[in-house]
Amino acid sequence: MFGNVQETAYDWKFSIFGIPVRVHPLFWVIAALFSSGRGQVDFMRLAIGVACIFVSILVHELGHALTARYFGWPPRILLYHFGGLAFYNPTYGHTPLRSILISLAGPGAGFVLFGLVLAFDFASVSYGFADQISHLGETAIFFLIRINLFWGLINLLPVYPLDGGQVSRSLFTWMMNSGGVTVSLKISILTGAAVAILAAYLREFYIAILFGGLAYQSYTQLKQHDFRSW
Ligand SMILES: [Zn+2]
Repeated sequence: MFGNVQETAYDWKFSIFGIPVRVHPLFWVIAALFSSGRGQVDFMRLAIGVACIFVSILVHELGHALTARYFGWPPRILLYHFGGLAFYNPTYGHTPLRSILISLAGPGAGFVLFGLVLAFDFASVSYGFADQISHLGETAIFFLIRINLFWGLINLLPVYPLDGGQVSRSLFTWMMNSGGVTVSLKISILTGAAVAILAAYLREFYIAILFGGLAYQSYTQLKQHDFRSW
């Protein structure tokens, strides 16, 4: 599910702060699905929603990537249908604490953006310039606040390979060596399944399918892992 994502002729490639970024075409499709809402499609709202998802996920991945680069491991970023990924190769000086910090830096960067936009929104009311913000600006604020809070919280869930799952795997292997992977995979299966059931109940089917798939993936990994450790 999170393995190699094929390059296509429609990939958009650029670099930011010297970090190479590749955007897979399906990223735009899923972003548009999320922005369209449930009623009649408003194209301006759709475009702003897609732009806000793009900026938010890029900021999240930059959090990971810039931290990885700080530790001396050159990163690259991929935006695709399940959001984003920051790759890095911890060639030397790898420690559990460093990988935990890299995992937390993604949601951290998103929460910083969330805080800045929220502060701007409050300031616009307190200092009386709210009526000067256009309708489009208000729509962008609406999206940025929700996306960054939601994306950060979802990613902190201890489900592998989300950021929270990476943190839990690093923490448990750090604390209990060989048994750590098994414990973190069991937590991942239980949390993933619980979120999938809750999301299905709330009729958030994309989230339900995503977390159901992740729980199943952790289950497969657990079986392989137990098999290997016999
Ligand atoms: Zn992340």
